[in-house]
Amino acid sequence: MVKERTIVETQVGIVGAGPAGLMLSHLLYKAGIDSVVVEKRSHDEIANTHRAGILEAGTVKMLVESGVDGRVLTEGHEHEGTTLRFEGVSHRIDFQKLVGESVWLYPQNEVFVDLAAARKRDGGDVRYEVTDTQIVDLTSEQPKILCTSADGEDLEIRCKILVGADGSKGISKRQIPEDIRTDNFIEYPFAWFGILCEAPASAPELIYANSEHGFALISQRSDTVQRMYFQCDPNENIDDWDDERIWAELQRRIDGPDGLQLQRGKIFDKTVLPFRSYVCEPLRYGNMFLVGDAGHTVPPTAPRV
Ligand SMILES: Cc1cc2nc3c(=O)[nH]c(=O)nc-3n(C[C@H](O)[C@H](O)[C@H](O)COP(=O)(O)OP(=O)(O)OC[C@H]3O[C@@H](n4cnc5c(N)ncnc54)[C@H](O)[C@@H]3O)c2cc1C
Repeated sequence: MVKERTIVETQVGIVGAGPAGLMLSHLLYKAGIDSVVVEKRSHDEIANTHRAGILEAGTVKMLVESGVDGRVLTEGHEHEGTTLRFEGVSHRIDFQKLVGESVWLYPQNEVFVDLAAARKRDGGDVRYEVTDTQIVDLTSEQPKILCTSADGEDLEIRCKILVGADGSKGISKRQIPEDIRTDNFIEYPFAWFGILCEAPASAPELIYANSEHGFALISQRSDTVQRMYFQCDPNENIDDWDDERIWAELQRRIDGPDGLQLQRGKIFDKTVLPFRSYVCEPLRYGNMFLVGDAGHTVPPTAPRV
């Protein structure tokens, strides 16, 4: 016997509670439009997944001015510039002087925590840990999300607009028929070897370094956790890199006459991140719209995972 689905009606149905899906749901709420978000992972799993660390000025303004939370301003770190370092010689780019704006160091998982809390505070409908998500009837007046809730209830979410905010590996873009969809895709012949480590920051702002040994990015996550990368082959084997070898490789890519030394600490995460660019055409199919990584990813801020 086919189990009956519980019908949920909303104006906008959103697949994915990443920054794109939750921010959209929050902005729709501010505009008086209701939405339902479905997410396959748990709140805590997303809150504990390390990804982005740097927010552009416009993103910070949107978070603060739309009333998400001011934590980005109190717990994040304002960076008024950045350093480009060639063959060990640093050149500071002063964002404030050049364009009167800063970027902010504030991890994506904290952005998620703030957005999720804002949705909860405002009575938003976000359903975590759903399974078997399908999206159907996209070209009709009433597209639908079908899924099973965390407690096993089969749902049919009927909406006017359906939004695919399900990231670069999501299902939504694949619902656009192949004779209509163009996948504009470039896979780069290099990757970034990324580490997370427990250490103080090596410099007050980010350092993008290039030398005869290759590229490195000395980035940050918090006062006690740092993010660093060096460019590598996409087929690089993590097991070939013990901590000592990683520190030596990073250090030689930033070495210079000013004697800059990396602050070392326990490395607790190592990942090889292949790079790609992707734009889906079209971004709208019937009454479905693609937002965020579901529609487009552009390095260096969007390594493939
Ligand atoms: C290592 C790394 C470092 C990065 N650094 C930066 C940076 O410094 N600055 C920057 O701006 N960007 C950075 N990025 C990119 C940034 O993380 C992404 O652009 C961002 O996460 C995209 O947000 P999104 O909401 O579109 O997608 P996602 O964050 O991927 O969210 C999509 C959500 O959809 C859910 N989902 C997927 N399929 C389904 C389904 N079938 N049903 C229900 N839910 C589903 C997923 O579980 C996920 O939670 C980085 C990325 C990585 C991997």
